[in-house]
Amino acid sequence: MVTQMAFENPKIKEIIDYTRKIWALNHASGLMGWDMEVNMPPQGARERSIAMGEISMMEHSFVTNDKFVKMVEAAKSEENLNKYEQGLLRVLSREIKQALAIPREIVGELSRVTGEATMAWREAREKNDYEKFRPYLDKIIELERKIADYLGYEKHPYDALADLYEEGMTVHDYDEFFGKIEGELKDILTKIMNSGWPKEHPLEKEKYDKDALHRVNLEIVKLLGYPLDERGRLDISAHPFTIGLGIGDVRITTRYEGIDFKKSLLAVVHEFGHSLYELQIDPQLSTTPLAHGVSSGIHESQSRFWENMVGRNMRFVERIYSILRENLSFLASYSPEEVYRYFNTVKPSLIRVDADEVTYNMHILVRYSIEKMMIAGEIKTSEIPEIWNEKMEEYLGVRPKSYSEGVLQDIHWSGGSIGYFPTYSLGTVLAVQIGEHARRDIGNFEDVITGGDLSVIREYLRNKVHRYGSVYAPKDLLRRSFGEEIEPEYFLKYLKQKYLS
Ligand code: MG
Repeated sequence: MVTQMAFENPKIKEIIDYTRKIWALNHASGLMGWDMEVNMPPQGARERSIAMGEISMMEHSFVTNDKFVKMVEAAKSEENLNKYEQGLLRVLSREIKQALAIPREIVGELSRVTGEATMAWREAREKNDYEKFRPYLDKIIELERKIADYLGYEKHPYDALADLYEEGMTVHDYDEFFGKIEGELKDILTKIMNSGWPKEHPLEKEKYDKDALHRVNLEIVKLLGYPLDERGRLDISAHPFTIGLGIGDVRITTRYEGIDFKKSLLAVVHEFGHSLYELQIDPQLSTTPLAHGVSSGIHESQSRFWENMVGRNMRFVERIYSILRENLSFLASYSPEEVYRYFNTVKPSLIRVDADEVTYNMHILVRYSIEKMMIAGEIKTSEIPEIWNEKMEEYLGVRPKSYSEGVLQDIHWSGGSIGYFPTYSLGTVLAVQIGEHARRDIGNFEDVITGGDLSVIREYLRNKVHRYGSVYAPKDLLRRSFGEEIEPEYFLKYLKQKYLS
């Protein structure tokens, strides 16, 4: 066991000992979740869900335990707590508040409804049948509205849900954030569309050998500095993801569709970014409630940093070109410049997960504006597909011809994750902001990507973001490490520089 020097106060140490039980349950259900996506035979799903549901109820009772709640409450009046200790109390107070606010029946009902809804959503998407999913969506919205009321909010019920994924963010903050990018982003997109920038590329149609691309992906994660085999694994799953089981075991996955290789490769670079955050947390925080990235938005900023600032960078493409050529024979007739253009095509499209870095936030704007109305009770679920289509037309100039490539494309609502989408935009924008700081502070950033030691970049992110785990709330972390709030101007400047100059 790592010596946890970070925690000195005896009352805090007692709390840490108690929370290790909660950590262990989390560790178990994390591993079970990973196994479910990577290894488990499909017929195991029902029993696995029951087991994971039981574990989450055990966690709930540990978190709401009377003695524990009092221990945390009492520790707040201790004097001279250090930053780790204060961070611990902040994180635990939030967890306790959330667990106590929402009645167990509601938690149970949400878990049951979302389990069924996810299955219904899969079928509905496959059959292009919105009506099949709609009754579940009605129920989920009703439950989420109740949850918002239980959690409490000052101005907008969506505030309560947004805070679950991004501590401290409100509708006011998000409206301001999106307000800053919306207009100019439309303008930038129009200009790119009217320039000669590639909208599509012949490499999108190239079929690849899955084993060959897997070899490429393994080479690339090693090049990036992922401690494969020592502290990580790269597996295959339906949707790419990262799971941090502990600081010494952070696993990533990708998928192989057999065509358009950048999807799989950039997913690996993206997940590497998530994994590095968890791998570089201060080892003193191991097995404590602080040993995870602090929020969805900050986490996504780390994955987007590696995907967009590094992976889609011309210098990086040049660096990995020989690995690509060696394994993917169809690349023989494409130069590094062509691969770069392929990695960076820009075109308004229907599907969020396939969107480029220019149009991506438009997809989020569509979802954010609809979610706000849902939670405020301003729209009926029967109206959502049409609103979706209108907003797609308004923001992206494209209109879905089916529910499957429109309102039914994403899994989030079926899982009850309302309030999550805007964190993707925060991450995309923050990645650029952090990238600009890295450029300034490191000095020879582009040279490091071209042929230098990438540990310079890894160490930069460790010092500025990763090592703190959840010690500082997202807004505090940004102020402390970069002296700024989130500032979308960096993102807009970057797009103009990259695509329009
Ligand atoms: Mg991600």
